[in-house]
Order: sequence, then C-alpha cells, then structure tokens
Amino acid sequence: MKNLLLLAAALPAFAFAAPADDTAKLRDAALNDTLALEIVEGLTTEVGPRLAGTEAEARARNWAMKRLKALGFANVRIETFDMPVWVRGAEKAFITVPFGQELKVTALGNSGATPETGLSAEIVAFDSVDALKAADPAKVRGKIVYITHRMTRTQDGSSYGQFGAPRRAGPSLASKMGAAAIVVRSIGTDHSRSPHTGVQTWADGATPIPAGALSTVDADLLERVVARGKPVTMTLTLTPRQTGIHQSGNVIAEVLGSDPAAGIVLIGGHLDSWDLGTGAIDDGAGVAITTAAAKRIMESGRKPKRTIRLVWFGAEEVGLFGGIAYAKSHAGERHAVASESDFGADRVWRFDAALPPEAKAVTERLKLALAPLGIAKGLDVAEGGPDMGPIVTTGVSAVDLQQDGTRYFDLHHTPEDTFDKIDPVQLRQNVAAWTAMLDVLANAPENLIKSTSK
Ligand SMILES: [Zn+2]
Repeated sequence: MKNLLLLAAALPAFAFAAPADDTAKLRDAALNDTLALEIVEGLTTEVGPRLAGTEAEARARNWAMKRLKALGFANVRIETFDMPVWVRGAEKAFITVPFGQELKVTALGNSGATPETGLSAEIVAFDSVDALKAADPAKVRGKIVYITHRMTRTQDGSSYGQFGAPRRAGPSLASKMGAAAIVVRSIGTDHSRSPHTGVQTWADGATPIPAGALSTVDADLLERVVARGKPVTMTLTLTPRQTGIHQSGNVIAEVLGSDPAAGIVLIGGHLDSWDLGTGAIDDGAGVAITTAAAKRIMESGRKPKRTIRLVWFGAEEVGLFGGIAYAKSHAGERHAVASESDFGADRVWRFDAALPPEAKAVTERLKLALAPLGIAKGLDVAEGGPDMGPIVTTGVSAVDLQQDGTRYFDLHHTPEDTFDKIDPVQLRQNVAAWTAMLDVLANAPENLIKSTSK
C-alpha cells in the first residue's frame, strides 16, 4: 500500500518527462549520426572562411537558410544587425638585426596598419603584460613591443583565460605607452608555424597600432635571438583596414513545442569564423552538432513540450555582436534554458548545470542520460557559451556540455582549422550528448525558468 502510494505520487512528475529509455534510445541512435559531419563538411567546402560582416558570412547565412529549410525546421529566418567590419591585409615580419630571419605573423582583430612598405623598429621584449605595465615608458616608446606567455594545454580550456592577456590587454597598453607596434606569442599550445589570430579591442584612449601574433615556433626563435643580449630590429608589415559598418545576422530555426508557457530551449553555435582557416572546429562543428541533435528531437515522433530554438549566431569572433543582438531583440520572450556548442568537435566529458532549485530532478535525469557517454556531472554553475552570455546574464538557466579542449588551442584561430581535424567518432558522441540533453530539457515537466529571470 505504502509503495503504491509512493508510485502514485511519483507518477504526475514522471508521466510527462522523457521516459529514460526513450531518451536512451534517441541517444544511442545518435551515435550513428551522419548529419553533423555532412553539415560541417558542406559549410567548410561550399562556403569556407566566414569573417563577420563580409560577403562570405552573408553567403554562409544563405547556405544555412537553405539547409535548415531543407531539413524541415520551422520558422527558418535571418535576423540582421549592423556592425563595424575589419579586414586583413598583407602580413610579413622579419628580424633584420642581428640575424636575418623571416617570422610567420598574423594581425590581431582591429589591428592598426603599418605603411605598405612596413615599419622597422627595435624589439623590446616582456614575459608578461604585468612586466610591460611595470616598464619605463621611455624604454617602450617608438619600439615594437613583444610579449610572451607560457600557455599549457588543459582539458577544460581554462588556460585560454589565464594566458590570453598578451593578446587582449597587450595592444592597448603598448599603444598607451607609445609603442610603434606590438607582436605577441600566439595564444596557442601547438608547435607550428601557423600563427593564431583573435580579437582584441582598443581600450578607451588607446590609438590603434599594428598588432600581430607570431607563430609559437617563430616566437621561440625571436626569444632565442633576444636572449643573445644584442639589440634586435624587426621589420613588420600589417595592412589591415576598417571597412565601415556592414550587415551581419543570426540564422534561426525552430522545433515547435506544445507548451509556450514552459519557455524556449535556446541552443546553437556561431556561423562566422576567422578568415585564416575554414572554421571547422570553430565553429562549424558547433552549429552542426546542435542542428543534428535538434533534428533528431524533431523526428523522434513526439512533439517536445518546449520549443527548441536553434541559432547559428553571426559575428561571434569579433565581439559577440550576434549574441548581443539576439538578447536585445528577444528580451521579452520566455527562455527556459540556454546552451551553446563552441569548443571544437572533440568529445563531451563533463556537464555543468545551473537550473532552478525545483529542477533538481532534471539535473539527475541529465546525469543518468549522459553517464553512458562517459560524461560526468561537474559544476552547478554554467555560462551557456559565449553567444548565450548576454541572455544568460538576464537570469536564464544554462547547461554546458564541456568538450575536451586538450588539442583545441593547437588549431584555434589558425589556418589549420580545417575539416580534416574533425574526428567523426567524437563528433557523433557530441550529437548523442546533445540529443539526450535536449530530450531531457525540452520535455521536463519541472519549471526551468529561474524566478530571478527578467
Ligand atoms: Zn568560437
């Protein structure tokens, strides 16, 4: 009797949740997914690099529209927004004194330009941004600042935040101290001659100066030359330019749910990429994984409770313009939970979930659904991913499927970010994880909307 009562009490909660074996079936079927690989192959082959605000990114949006419509999603549309656009020019670097050596260099986002014929100046080297900060500005004025770092590989990618300062803070500081230009050691963990680009924005009062990243191997070479203790002169040519305000956009598609009051499950990745590679791991993989998973829920034979809204964000790399535009134009809607895939294509190894207290059982169901894929529960805080940041900070719940980042920063923002780097087996594990997560979140009978949500 007691047991029966318990069972009866449990029924209302679980009768409408995704039954665990249904979720398991969808998850396991997704381990044979072919769609995610097709999408990232198609995008990298038929479009290629997709720098934000350029004609290439517009072509990518049209490609995405066509593909998402053909896949059968509802309400496929483009929401445009305007943004400032920066494009790369020539890039060359040579040590001229005391030894002639060519170095592989690439401009950082928003870099200023040298004359077409280049700029020659003495190198002044620092092992951190703090060391530059502490330097006598007289020793920096008119020189080319070089900053190194000791980034190591980490599974969770945490070293990117810690060791990214030379790229993010170095250029503005060097400019304010009167430097002629700056080159940093690429923010990467590889040993190759492919430099890593990435955005940096000029702090208030900082005049744009030429700002580049040397490949890690050429950074090593420059450091060996500097260690000889003699003055070192570099000739640097970087001729990027700002082209003014142009259009970018988010491509949106939906799997319609049955209960609008339960809120939207917002997922996606970013469609734009840096211009050096073809944007396979960053972030063709992310849009492919989330699209393949959403398509599996759409075809599961059961209409989800919540609408799944899939966004292929524009202009992430150069300043999160797509995420900011989305949060602004969709502020009035009920978002239940947000999650983005933007850390490559390698396997998910951990999940972090920040759901309301009454949704504890949802986190438990996620645990059960993800454990067979080798995914463990991590933190009770989740950020949702870069493009989700602006909407998550308004109080929307978030879940993060953390991907293995051990080799991510070997390829990140380099010419090596190409389709061949995608491991199909690990990509399919991602689709399986996302499918299981979506099935649990989109069908959870519990409230997922935080009471603090604005
Ligand atoms: Zn990215």
